Amino acid sequence: MNKNLILQTASNSSPEYNPGITIKSAHEIVAMRKAGKVVAKTIELLKELSRPGVTTRYLDQMAEKEIIRLGGTPTFKGYRGFPGSICTSVGNEIVHGIPGSRVLRNGDLLKVDVGATVDGFIGDSAVTIGIGEISDDAMKLIDVTATALKMGILAALPGVRTGDIGAAIEEYVSPKGYGLVREYVGHGVGRFLHEEPAVPNYGPGGRGAKLANGMAIAIEPMVNIGGWQTRLLDDQWTVVTKDGSLSAHFEHTILISQEGPEILTSLNGAYVHG
Ligand code: MG
Ligand code: MG
Repeated sequence: MNKNLILQTASNSSPEYNPGITIKSAHEIVAMRKAGKVVAKTIELLKELSRPGVTTRYLDQMAEKEIIRLGGTPTFKGYRGFPGSICTSVGNEIVHGIPGSRVLRNGDLLKVDVGATVDGFIGDSAVTIGIGEISDDAMKLIDVTATALKMGILAALPGVRTGDIGAAIEEYVSPKGYGLVREYVGHGVGRFLHEEPAVPNYGPGGRGAKLANGMAIAIEPMVNIGGWQTRLLDDQWTVVTKDGSLSAHFEHTILISQEGPEILTSLNGAYVHG
């Protein structure tokens, strides 16, 4: 992405502004933790509510209420004109699905992506939820994608480069024969939803920005049963697999720390969503 273009077209009061790499102060980390907890609690609620017969619009409305009840604002609402408070992507939809009248059915694979802003700072996290009874293939895809996120998190140490996170994810996923999405990547996060650096889900290692204490990044592998290629739907938001294959997505916002990666968007410090 052309950073200069972004700087020219978005003011620094806009959530679309990209300030580059930011190092969070102790005070800012407190706010990041608060935002992360709001996201984690909202995702827990969405896991309970996601079942056959409910619409993605219902989930969006309940998530928005929960974020506000917990003292946050839904970061995604209005971001570059996005109409929902959360993203809901089903089946072969990878990310950025718009909540609407779609009714969830038994066997669906739902991805929910949640962003919340608290005291000016943002948490960003996503989870894949099996609706009712899902196939063994879908279950395996969820398991591999959740573990891929864990591999990425374990690699997120001070002094390591963003490419090393991607390499850790790729080395785990690729031998399974799945497609690892390349066109969409993780990112720095803080006052703004998308800050530098980009955090790819593929190698090679040894390249990209070097991680340092106080940086916060979103790591978010997207894994397809088929190929890695994607396609954008006519709504200009929803990203789907080009070959129509099933896709899964997990994401956490992580604080880079000398003590090891701190998962800001976790309720209990667990590496992956249970
Ligand atoms: Mg997200
Ligand atoms: Mg993200």
